[in-house]
Amino acid sequence: MFIERSVALRVIKGEAAALSPEFGGCVMCALVADAPTTHVLCRTRRSVAVLARFGVRRGHLLVVLRRHVERFEEITWPEWQDAQRVAWEAARAAERALGATRVYVASLGSATQRPMTFPHHHLHVVPTYRGDRRDRPAAVFTWQDGVVLQDERDAARLTRELRAAWPMGARGSERLGDSHR
Ligand SMILES: [Zn+2]
Repeated sequence: MFIERSVALRVIKGEAAALSPEFGGCVMCALVADAPTTHVLCRTRRSVAVLARFGVRRGHLLVVLRRHVERFEEITWPEWQDAQRVAWEAARAAERALGATRVYVASLGSATQRPMTFPHHHLHVVPTYRGDRRDRPAAVFTWQDGVVLQDERDAARLTRELRAAWPMGARGSERLGDSHR
């Protein structure tokens, strides 16, 4: 279901305000620690792939580094490699399970905390589909047209489909991530 940007922003603002103090106000740290299992697609030692609750397209997901790092200078090569690998797996799963015609992978985020963007490093994996007349990066990476709100039932179904199509299997990926220590 598409909802207005302003509605999504209100919800996110409320959720950020309710975060436990241990996360230092970082929604991404909270997500790494506490993402609902219905949203988690894959965990490795260094990153976690979760469905974006407010996505710009069906199956939009995030690959979040477990460690709170904001700058490329702080990201180790093994962390970057791991996150890229998970994004690659996610993109393949989106092609297989959801029939995506194109999958965008991007490192976005703002240097400062804002209602819809967070400095904690993460990658966006965004599938696009046949018939999407606005499947260009500038039209996809914006909330101007509203966002997809995943209700719990949708999220659980999407997670099941993506996990079933995950290249190494979600557990295989976990093993692989561990072997990269
Ligand atoms: Zn963080």
